[in-house]
This record gives sequence, C-alpha cells and structure tokens, in this order.
Amino acid sequence: MEHLQSRGLYERCVHVPARLITTKELEATHTPLHVKRVADTEHHEYGEAEPDSETEGDEAVYPQCLYFDNDTFANQHSYTAARLSCGGLVDLCEKVVDGELRNGFAVVRPPGHHAEEGKPMGFCLFNNVAVATNVIRKSRPRVKKVLIVDWDVHHGNGTQNLFFSDPDVLYFSIHRYQDATFYPHTGGWNEVGEAKAAGRTVNVPLPVKQLGDVEYLTTFQKVLIPIAMEFQPDLVIISAGFDCCLGDPLGGMEVSPEAFAYMTSMLMNPAVVKDGRVVLALEGGYNVRAVSESIGHCVSALLGDPLPPLVNATEGFESKRDLSKRKQRHGLFMQTIDKVISIQKTYWKSLRRPALIHALSHLSLDEHPSKAHDHVKNTIYAEAGVTVQVSVTEVPVLMPDPKSPTVVVEEIPLSK
Ligand SMILES: [Zn+2]
Repeated sequence: MEHLQSRGLYERCVHVPARLITTKELEATHTPLHVKRVADTEHHEYGEAEPDSETEGDEAVYPQCLYFDNDTFANQHSYTAARLSCGGLVDLCEKVVDGELRNGFAVVRPPGHHAEEGKPMGFCLFNNVAVATNVIRKSRPRVKKVLIVDWDVHHGNGTQNLFFSDPDVLYFSIHRYQDATFYPHTGGWNEVGEAKAAGRTVNVPLPVKQLGDVEYLTTFQKVLIPIAMEFQPDLVIISAGFDCCLGDPLGGMEVSPEAFAYMTSMLMNPAVVKDGRVVLALEGGYNVRAVSESIGHCVSALLGDPLPPLVNATEGFESKRDLSKRKQRHGLFMQTIDKVISIQKTYWKSLRRPALIHALSHLSLDEHPSKAHDHVKNTIYAEAGVTVQVSVTEVPVLMPDPKSPTVVVEEIPLSK
C-alpha cells in the first residue's frame, strides 16, 4: 500500500472493504469437512511461540500454529483472514460485473490456488479465485464463462482440479515445471481437462528456470490471447502471484515488474473480455519489494496509464557464455510452446491460424498509436537479438480502454 501511495496510484483507486464469505458460499466449492477443519482452527488451544534454532523448520518450533501439512498452517486468526480474502474477491468481482467498477485488484492473503476441494495446501486455506468464480456465476447468471489466468510461478493444482470437467471455466497456467520436479509437481502440457471440458485447461509448463519477459509475453501472444479471444469469457480473474518475478527467493524466474503491466493490459482488451472486465487476486510472491512494484505496475495498467519501458533482456549478459546459456534456455522454452500449441490446437482453431494472430496484433498497434508502442517495438526488437524467434509484428500489445477505468484495492489487515 505504501508503494501504491508513493506512486500516487492509491488515491486514484476506490477502496472496497472486504467482507466475510459465508459457509454456504464456501461449500459451493469446498467440502463441508474442509470448511469445518479450517473453521476449527479459530478455537484451537495454541501453545506459546518457542523459537528454537536447533529445530528450525520443524513443526515443534511453532506450537502457536496448527499444521495441515508441512507448509500449510493456521493460527486463531487465519480462518477470519481466509474468509475476508474470499469475501473481498467475490464483492470485487460482483462490482465489476455490475459495471459499478471497471476492473480491480484484490490485495488479499492468504492465497488460494493450491487449495483443493477437500484440503488446504501450499499456504492456501480456501481457493479464493475458485470460490469467487462459483459464487459470481450463481449470483450473476449473465456471467456464464470465466477465464482464470494463473501466472504464479507454481501451478494452481487446486483451481485446475476444481474446474477440470467444467466447460464454462477456462483455466490457463504458466508455471515452472521442470519435468514435474517443481512444486506442486502438476500442470503438464497433457493435462487439458476432461470430457466436454477438454481444452479448457491450458498448461504452459516451463522446462527451466531463469526465463523472463520474452518468454512470458511470447506465451501470452502465441497461446493465451488467441485462446481467450476464441473462448470469449464474461469475466477474467487473474491468479496474480509474483513469485515468478526477478528477485523472488522461491521462484527462480526473471520476469520484470514492468512486464506484469503488459500482461494485465493484454487481458483488458475488449476483444478478450466484454468491457475489459479483469479482476486480479494476489497469490504468491515472497520478495516484498518485487511484489509491491509488480502490483504497482498492474494497478497502473488497470488505470489505463501508458505502459512502462521494458528492460532490454540482453542487459546483464556480460559474457558470451552467459548469452549462449540464455539462448539455450529460450530454445527449450520454444520447444515447450510448440508442444503446447500442438496439443491445444485440437481444441482451439485460433491456434491453427497463425496468420490471424498476426493480423490482430497489427490491428491493435494501428488502433492505438502511442509512445508506449514504439518503445515496446524497440524493446522486443532488441530482445529478439536474444530470442531470435520473437519478431516485432507478432507481439500484440493491446492497450487498455482509455475511458477512465476504476480500480479497487482491497487490504486485509493481516496483523489483526
Ligand atoms: Zn506460488
């Protein structure tokens, strides 16, 4: 919030207080037993904190917490925080769908995308985005189709599983995978949904770490945006984790904070979703500075500001050896993208027509001439020196609607 204030973004937003989600709303997504297990943490008798460096990392170090698994735990405040997290996101989605607000960012924790139908997992108690998707489709029947875009560095196993056979929810995830060696070890390209929902799960499993803006923007341009335009969702919800950002201690990826502005604005295009209805929900991200800066760039994009400059991807590669390794990683990434397209084009005709993507991206550039575009062209062109296969005209930079967008920022007082 300090970062948003320092950039003058906070005062341009409407602040919507989060509300507590109801048990009934939770049970439309999670099993009653799951909801009860989390609810019971509120009245558990907790021990006192006993810091002990010798057993650090062990459950015994934190007797003031109740553990669901090694990295998923709660204290007496967690149930309330998790209910606010879900309730806040639901209200925000409803206001956007009702046209009261143009778009929004739910700055909420705990995160949600690992939480399964029947169990908390990976720091996540309730699956905020899944709960919001289910509630909004019931409370606002005109919302039939929802696109969930998950750019957290981890695969959102919970969200995928909850909608694996639901043809009205398209789940897209780009995540570090490395042959299923990276947590949570799911999200291969061959996981595509089942029965009528085949093709409604789209996974881009990144084969190596240290990938960055070029790879993420290429994925959006070549895979996500064409599919999204064909799917025509009534609402886009982004599982916005920033642990793929440069400097994150867990993610190992190198996406710049500025790149999130581009990803956000591409999805805000009315050609993707009616009225540019995009709502972001915070997921992971463990470098406070990187998270703050990235959220700032997303909010700025939601407000319709010009896109920020992207740093040239060749910077920092001082030796030829480093540059050659960078090219090698990009090559492995391109193999993955080709694989994803070869699988998904069975379900999406837009992936069978590369000429269409080309034409559309060109159209968007012509429609909204701006300095930002020139810069993007230059930057991507410069990056093409590294990536070879990224060409200027293939990058669709879809500008947000210039009509005064309204953004909501929600804040959960975690120290409550
Ligand atoms: Zn994550």
